[in-house]
Amino acid sequence: MKRKISIALDGPAASGKSTTARLLAKKLSYLYIDTGAMYRAATLAALRAGVDMSDEKLVEICVKENRIRLRLEMGEQITLLNDENVNSQIRTPEINSVISVLSSYAGVRREMVAQQRELAKAGGVVMDGRDIGTVVLPDAELKVFMIATLQARAQRRLLELQKNGESVTYEEVEREIANRDKLDTSRSHSPLKKAEGARELDTSNLSIEQQVKIIYNWAREITMTPPDNPLSALSGA
Ligand code: C5P
Repeated sequence: MKRKISIALDGPAASGKSTTARLLAKKLSYLYIDTGAMYRAATLAALRAGVDMSDEKLVEICVKENRIRLRLEMGEQITLLNDENVNSQIRTPEINSVISVLSSYAGVRREMVAQQRELAKAGGVVMDGRDIGTVVLPDAELKVFMIATLQARAQRRLLELQKNGESVTYEEVEREIANRDKLDTSRSHSPLKKAEGARELDTSNLSIEQQVKIIYNWAREITMTPPDNPLSALSGA
């Protein structure tokens, strides 16, 4: 595949976006950008600073004062908070329980979106999140909205957590995911929703390999088709 395109993957919590996006990027030799990791690092910064999450102004100041970056090291995405690798500290129940409050703030989102667009500037990216197709990369050549039943998502997340040694119940996981989805879809700034032109993929009964294959084939179709404006191909050639 010669022409490099941008791929936006959005969807609710635990719909398999991150794993699919990572494998897809590898298969295409594209850059994978996990935007959720940036909101997670911002939440960690606010928790460490002891900021009251309901204080929008303070949270915004705190996020601006901390440097959040994504870096690729030996094929793995590293999330840096002021140059500290926080990969293992950003996926905790504590962060999950407050992240949707922080990510509902317009000022916080402005900071994140600007960085995300900068990272995607050169094309050849697979970016996953909640607002990628609607706000961050509305011109992405391929937009996918991944969905799955709440039960399928909770079951997958439970297995993942148990594998990491966390002791949680199915009910707790289901509650946490449902709560995060509710907040993410009902916020007024960049709510989670299917972007115009996005293809919907229900992953309830699909394996990760099947998900990757379907999206890979969609990407192939697009890169094999000449763009509407041939000049736009020159920048990505
Ligand atoms: O994708 P992940 O589950 O890691 O995202 C964690 C949280 O970060 C989401 O529940 C959402 O509140 C926020 N998020 C967002 N916009 C994105 C990515 C994540 O609001 N583009």
